[in-house]
Amino acid sequence: MQLQKPGLYIHIPFCRSKCSYCDFYSIPSLAPLQKFLDGLKKEMLLQKDIFSQPFDTVYIGGGTPTFLKEEYIELILREIFEKFHIEDGAEITIEANPCDININKAKFLKEIGINRVVLGIQSLMDEILKFLGRCHLADQALRAYEVLRKVGFENIGVDMIYAVPGQSLGEWLNDLKRIVSLSPEHISCYELTFEKRTRLWNLYCSGKIASMDEDKKACFFMQTSNFLENYGYIHYEVSNFARSELYISTHNLKYWMYVPYLGIGPSAHSFDGKKRWWNFASIKKYCEMLKKGFPPVEETEQLSEEQICMEKLFLGLRTCYGTELSLCKVSKDMLNLLEREGLIRITEKRVIPTKKGFSLADQLASFLV
Ligand code: SF4
Repeated sequence: MQLQKPGLYIHIPFCRSKCSYCDFYSIPSLAPLQKFLDGLKKEMLLQKDIFSQPFDTVYIGGGTPTFLKEEYIELILREIFEKFHIEDGAEITIEANPCDININKAKFLKEIGINRVVLGIQSLMDEILKFLGRCHLADQALRAYEVLRKVGFENIGVDMIYAVPGQSLGEWLNDLKRIVSLSPEHISCYELTFEKRTRLWNLYCSGKIASMDEDKKACFFMQTSNFLENYGYIHYEVSNFARSELYISTHNLKYWMYVPYLGIGPSAHSFDGKKRWWNFASIKKYCEMLKKGFPPVEETEQLSEEQICMEKLFLGLRTCYGTELSLCKVSKDMLNLLEREGLIRITEKRVIPTKKGFSLADQLASFLV
């Protein structure tokens, strides 16, 4: 798979309310919107020539981009096309919350040139949605999906969460059954994790909730993969499935295939192949820096050759394309052992994780360094 052109990510740091599991940078208020928009324009101007190649993907994420009114989404998209060279036919994705999608908003998103929508459905059980602190119910999410289809979106991704405390495998598979009946082009299934600085983390630390045990999580993972593969989905990354190769997320694949990307907005991360940098995760600090004419970068990390090899290995092993054999620094015996254990497949030049290997995620890479 050839992926050379950079991707552009725009972080919209606003949400209607904060979900209980979320540690992404976003605030549940639109009060600093105008300042943020001014900052965003300035940052785009500062960074517009950073990559010489055109971008072939734009990903508007967050936060909740669809929480913004139509006029602001349009303004952001216009700025993107004015400041950056975006290739014709680029994949232009927006993340959408079911609460925000009605027929008018969906039509509008289609009209301004968005060609891929990722809808955060997360669960089709209202109790679970409540536990996750989502601001929508299952019916609302299904209606939002239908509306997106109705206005002509031909590339819809659905985000789902599993391994919620108390959730049974049957309940989860039932959700998936209803999801595949909609035929979304892309499905992401994320295992619920308890991240620091979230409400779930506090509940976990105070002993009010417990995490699902590891064997059960592994069972959910394997069953999810089997189930979706039976319905024809390609399990192309640990948490991601596409209805065909056409619908693999070109933008997200750049992160795993070590292709450069530029992140704009508070907390956004960027990578140019040799170094990585990230912006302040604070709208205030972000805007202050830009007002003074500086890039709002909190930190830059120069990557050594060794780090680059290690990261390529770790990231590649998250995908069905695997990693270069030459990056694996272990003996042939170790590789053969992992192959006999059914964790990898070795080809002439690559090491490809099996489904069992996927289930170990980053642990698999640690066996190979
Ligand atoms: S809507 Fe998304 S970004 Fe916003 S709080 Fe919930 S999970 Fe986080």
